[in-house]
Amino acid sequence: MDNPSKHVLASELSVAWSNLSALEVLESALARFGEDKMAFVSSFGAESAVLLSLAARISPDLKIIFIETGFHFDETQRYAEQLIDRLGLTRVVRVSIDPITRKRIDPDQRLHQVNPDLCCHIRKVEVLDRALKGLNGWVSGQKRYQDQMRAGVELLEFDSERDCFKVNPLAHWTAKRIEGYFQGYGLPRHPLIASGYSSIGCWPCTSPVKAGESVREGRWRGQAKTECGLHRPLRRQQGGMS
Ligand code: SF4
Repeated sequence: MDNPSKHVLASELSVAWSNLSALEVLESALARFGEDKMAFVSSFGAESAVLLSLAARISPDLKIIFIETGFHFDETQRYAEQLIDRLGLTRVVRVSIDPITRKRIDPDQRLHQVNPDLCCHIRKVEVLDRALKGLNGWVSGQKRYQDQMRAGVELLEFDSERDCFKVNPLAHWTAKRIEGYFQGYGLPRHPLIASGYSSIGCWPCTSPVKAGESVREGRWRGQAKTECGLHRPLRRQQGGMS
């Protein structure tokens, strides 16, 4: 349900927090909305280590949601374990589609070939919807520089579809700043970066990028699709889902 006053609050706090560091934005958001009522959402992808490191610097016990689509690269699974161990994260919660829905809608697991929007919807969007129920907000690692769709990302937004706030503490960060953080904190890299991947999601829908391409150009290559729907919800436009 939409709520104009919450959109206004999000805009006001985005302005108020604009001079804060990413760590301070996170601390402010957690204080405002409640540590136990907030969750970080991570794909354990190419740049995820930065947001996870910031979370761990506040508390390794903060809740981290990892959406298990069933199509992650093996390298992503190993990297997740490496980061969890390295940062000492204690509350990484893996969430996934329920088996009955998967069997009903995608029995042969080829939906991504014929209807990737629906595949993302049942494997990511609906799963996150359920995981965020009862929470006041979530934290994402979106950055404006990543592509056109994310160019307007604010520090704090009201996610009206889920009736909760979304914090984007890295909204203003550049690729150079991300790189500087990796180096400054000695964070490990996702192993696929060395093979030319700059944004890493499910293996059927992810490819390396070439010189001159934007960071997310390897996602759903050759299709009009550029987002999975977590941030620009597709919201049941396909119909017929649980
Ligand atoms: S990224 Fe591809 S495989 Fe993963 S949920 Fe979306 S369509 Fe399915």
